Amino acid sequence: MALVRSEGVVLKTYPLGDTSRIVVAYTREHGMVRLVAKGARKTPSRFGFALEPLSRSRFGFYLKADRDLQLLSQADTLEPLGSRLADLTRLAYAHAAVELIDRLVWGEEPHEELFELLTATLASVTAAPLEALPAITIAYELQVASLLGYRPQLEACANCGEALSPRRLFSPARGGLLCDRCAGVEPGTVRLSADALAGLSLLLSRPVGKAGEYLDVRRTGEILRVVEAFLTHHFQRFQGLRSLAMLRSLSDLGPGDAPPCPN
Ligand SMILES: [Zn+2]
Repeated sequence: MALVRSEGVVLKTYPLGDTSRIVVAYTREHGMVRLVAKGARKTPSRFGFALEPLSRSRFGFYLKADRDLQLLSQADTLEPLGSRLADLTRLAYAHAAVELIDRLVWGEEPHEELFELLTATLASVTAAPLEALPAITIAYELQVASLLGYRPQLEACANCGEALSPRRLFSPARGGLLCDRCAGVEPGTVRLSADALAGLSLLLSRPVGKAGEYLDVRRTGEILRVVEAFLTHHFQRFQGLRSLAMLRSLSDLGPGDAPPCPN
């Protein structure tokens, strides 16, 4: 059992017994870890903001490979994001970013690019104009899926590799655009507007923080529906982002832009 140090973002916490807390963090060096913070509920001041959801912290813990819970020894706050975000909308988007990692990532395999994407997205959610947050979130969803091995296929038919249909037919189930022949026998294809397809392609390839600058806000709803249908098909644990459900019910994404209810 070795004492290791790792930088991580707190995804969520829950109580353990009367005095302790379990902290679920996504770390740069050790992927997803579940840390037992003994006494954290009795003397919360001991850890400052380091164990608060959304905080980026440096953890020292005793790592035992075949164990589900690791014992936390030390935690220092690097960026207490949750305590700094007063705006409820920004807070909801920041929670959505950590919720996506919690739902889509399995196991302890570290993934440095994914960690960088998460921290870059949290920084963007803090600093970008409010109207850019939906676009940033869609870009983030697409790029997380890509890093986990599910990049939407936009260059050739996702089913057979032939030339694409000029009608821009996207199949969430097949994971991309289709040719006319495959689209003819594939239920559930969605016809994309030229703008939405161009937006989708940019969202996949440009930095998430810039998403608000090139995605036409009127296309956000159309792209979001396609992206969430795609995620729902390929990730069993994805059922939409709960953190954004309340914002959507307040029509924050614009009238008519709410995605279809999951299930
Ligand atoms: Zn095809």
